[in-house]
Order: sequence, then structure tokens, then C-alpha cells
Amino acid sequence: MADPAECTIKVMCRFRPLNSSEVTRGDRYIPKFQGEDTVVIGVSSIVLGGFLDMFDTALRHSQQYAIFDCPVAVAVNVLEGYNGTIFAYGQTSSGKTHTMEGNLHDTDAMGIIPRIVQDIFNYIYSMDENLEFHIKVSYFEIYLDKIRDLLDGKWLLWRCEQCGCTERFVCSPDEVMDTLIELQSHKQKLSGKLYLVDLAGSEKVQESKLKRQEHQQVLCRPWENGISALAEGTAYIPYRDSKMTRILQDSLGGNCRTTIVICCSPSSFNEAETKSTLMFGQRAK
Ligand code: ADP
Ligand code: MG
Repeated sequence: MADPAECTIKVMCRFRPLNSSEVTRGDRYIPKFQGEDTVVIGVSSIVLGGFLDMFDTALRHSQQYAIFDCPVAVAVNVLEGYNGTIFAYGQTSSGKTHTMEGNLHDTDAMGIIPRIVQDIFNYIYSMDENLEFHIKVSYFEIYLDKIRDLLDGKWLLWRCEQCGCTERFVCSPDEVMDTLIELQSHKQKLSGKLYLVDLAGSEKVQESKLKRQEHQQVLCRPWENGISALAEGTAYIPYRDSKMTRILQDSLGGNCRTTIVICCSPSSFNEAETKSTLMFGQRAK
């Protein structure tokens, strides 16, 4: 990590409720929460970054707004010129998309992305009307370390230091839903970028289910090395190892505000995966 004073990482943890097929199968609800930042799985207790307030047990809230207090600060920070990244990490079906996107058009069920977009515009509307804001949005997916621009459907080649994605100017929250955002405030000469990332499932994929190239890319997961290096405060972050870490470079190192939402299944069936997901969060703390 460049300078701890400049770069902050927050780790939140969210357990979804047991789903109906897990209940039907007779799975147990395994997490036990101790205090504000410690969760016990089996016999191991895992300490996270003080944000365990977010999990969805019968005792605590499962509403989407509950997850939002921390990211809201990220939106304001970006308008103040910091770079930010929010990503959800966890196995398939642990609630990453639910957390990042949720229901985009339902005010109660919205996830982080639509809430942050709304928040950014609310903040801008509340500012001095002589200030000029330019907001650009890109939207892309990375699959097998190739980038596909979702605004024009093309696969992109890596060009110099930029990914060459389409950038569109946007004027309202409706134009921005579930996307990556770049904000600039020219008059104050401030510029911040905010990456909102819905990652692929973190579980180890069975070899037999993958073609050879896919196998190598998915099992090696070079971006995960970058994120882990950042999370562990390693001086050398291998940004060049993958498109993902390279694209996230500005927002993962140096002047950054990073929030990681650790998403977990509460089911006894997924105990081993849940433990490894939580360990990732613990390393990032
Ligand atoms: P992922 O993106 O990690 O694969 P999803 O976000 O698609 O997982 O979640 C899987 C299913 O669980 C979805 O049907 C989703 O609506 C439901 N779900 C996930 N998290 C929650 C939650 N916190 N509360 C209620 N339902 C949830
Ligand atoms: Mg998903």
C-alpha cells in the first residue's frame, strides 16, 4: 500500500439468509457473530474490519439500505478528488450481485450501485450552481482477461495505459445505473474515479468443467493476486498481471478509498468456501 494515510480499505461482511433449497435440504445456519467484528465458523473465529453489522440474520437487518452507510462516504470522496473502488467478493450465489446491484428500480431493494449513483447526483444538486461537474460513465466486463465494452459490444485490445473503453457523458442517475463511473469537477481541478465491481464467483472451479484456457485463467486468477497484494499492504502490487488489476490500479493503490464487501453463504453445506472467503477479508483488513 502506498501511504496508509492516503489509502484506506474498509472490509464489510454480509451473510445472506438461508435459501429455500438449503432449508429443504436441512442445512444448518453456521455463522455465529461475536461483537461487531468477529464471526465464528466451526471452531475458527475470524476478525474482520469492524463492519460485521451488515449481516443478514434473523436478528439483524437484511435491508439493502443497511449496507450503504459506508459506501456513501466513498461517493463524496470521489467528488472530492479521491479514487475509489467498491467490490463484492464471495462464492457464486453468496449475494454479490444482490449487494452491488439489487433491484435497480425499487427504492427499497436497490443495491450499492444505484444508491451511490443517486447519492452522487444528490451531492452535485446540493452544490453551488456555479460549479461545473462533468460525469462520464463506462461499463465493461472482463472475461478470461479480455475486456468487452458493454456500451458498444466490442471486444477491446489493450492500448497503452488505457483500456480504450467508450465513455459517455451522463446527466442523471437514470443514465448511470449499474455502471462504472468517472467524475470530474473541472473548476476545482479535482478528478476522481469510482469503480463499482461485481466480481466472478471466488470458488475454485472444478477442472473438468472448464476448457483449458479458461481453466488456466480462472484458476490462476491473476487479479486476485493484485487485490491480495493491496489488501496485505505488500509494497509491490502486480498490476500488470491482469487487465483487472491494471484497470483498477488508480483505485487500488495510492490515493484511494476501497471498500470490500465480503459476501457469504450461511449454509453448513458451503462451510469450507465461506471460511476461505472470510480469510480473504481478514487478510484485507
Ligand atoms: P452472486 O452474485 O454472488 O452469485 P446473487 O446476488 O445472485 O449471488 O444472490 C443469489 C440469490 O440469493 C439471489 O436470488 C438473491 O436475490 C438472493 N440473495 C442474495 N443476498 C441476499 C440477501 N442479503 N437477502 C435476501 N436475498 C439475497
Ligand atoms: Mg452475481
